Amino acid sequence: MTTTLFKGGRVLDPASGTDAVMDVLVEGQRIARIGKDLPASEAEVIDASGLIVAPGLIDPHVHLREPGQEHKETIQTGSQAAVAGGFTTVCCMPNTAPTLDTPEIVRFIYDQARTAMCRVFPVAAGTVGRQGERMTEIQLLAKAGAVGISDDGDVIASAGVMKSVFTATGAAGLVFMQHCQEPTLTRGASMHAGGISTKLGLTGWPRIAEEIIIERDIRLLSVAPCRYHVQHLSCAGSIEIIRIARANGLPVTAEASPHHLLLTDEACLGYDTSAKMNPPLREQSDLEAIRKGVADGIITILATDHAPHTPDEKALPFSDAPFGIIGLETALAGYAKALIDTGHIDWLKLVELMTINPAKLCNLDRSHRGDDGLGELREGGLADITLIDPAHSWTVTESDLEGLSRNTPFLGTEFNARTVLTMVGGQTQHSRLNASASS
Ligand SMILES: [Zn+2]
Repeated sequence: MTTTLFKGGRVLDPASGTDAVMDVLVEGQRIARIGKDLPASEAEVIDASGLIVAPGLIDPHVHLREPGQEHKETIQTGSQAAVAGGFTTVCCMPNTAPTLDTPEIVRFIYDQARTAMCRVFPVAAGTVGRQGERMTEIQLLAKAGAVGISDDGDVIASAGVMKSVFTATGAAGLVFMQHCQEPTLTRGASMHAGGISTKLGLTGWPRIAEEIIIERDIRLLSVAPCRYHVQHLSCAGSIEIIRIARANGLPVTAEASPHHLLLTDEACLGYDTSAKMNPPLREQSDLEAIRKGVADGIITILATDHAPHTPDEKALPFSDAPFGIIGLETALAGYAKALIDTGHIDWLKLVELMTINPAKLCNLDRSHRGDDGLGELREGGLADITLIDPAHSWTVTESDLEGLSRNTPFLGTEFNARTVLTMVGGQTQHSRLNASASS
């Protein structure tokens, strides 16, 4: 049995509120002990002084492109990108080909994920083929192991269908994750509707198209109870709607993505398709509101929306290029830059938004398919551990990207923090450290 001792790190476990310099001893797949001055005995010792020892990071929103678009990413290559960015668990969206809308495809994802470098959990579609018309068999999808329901990439536009999907998703005990975009307000849109879209002569995607869906869905929840989650929130107004819903006790959560916390629509100037995403980059006031929404506790989850595309696709004219950027390898660094370097939150809070909160969203904090709960550091629990260097200056280059695609606007960006080791179930799956054995 391999044993590893993380020595003298700052152990952060938001689930228990732990923030103390301690050692963590891993034996086999599990955490054997957490405490001060633990004996090394036969363990491989990793000097964690100056580093943060956190539960393995969890991303509840990635696109792994398998099945159907394996030239962009596969479950295997996506998991490589994940562990390079400190993630031990990712939840993959159903906009694959075929759509992830049957129990067979849910099981296919689990089969493919057996050799992946991190844990992979599928989110299944709410409507057949994500067409927004006919509801999927949500009870069976849940039984097969889907950890959430979403038509991500598209909204469920019909209120009638949405109501049925909420009811079934709620009854199955799952969360519904909404891509909030009223489609008739965004036809042909490729970026935020504002001064810059006018200047570039591009069709704009107005804020109200996001807000109106959140408003509608919150209304529907009163007749179709369900846990409801707003994906990749992009505008200030959305936060105010969610603030009121949460104040009224509704089970509404929201996530923010690195790009919406760091960039504005100015990044689209020059028709740079690496800044084309959906929902689009908006204005400085939105960016500030999203940061503040995280600080205020309205946004409780961070998610990358990792969306790989080929260079050929991103070389198309702006209005024709696909939406989306990759995010797994640079996410932690980006969140730290947007939220910690600016004084909005501290490290314990950041780790909470990336571990126990997304675990709870997808019911991964409790026993799941024979494994125990994820998202925390506890004696006897699975050894999913991420080491973070909170004072590591680095500039993103292509060699830092370990998935299949390269479409990121963050090449050349300087960051001040980085994950340096990723352990999944006691196995070190990625390391930038030189470990030394002790006797
Ligand atoms: Zn989406």
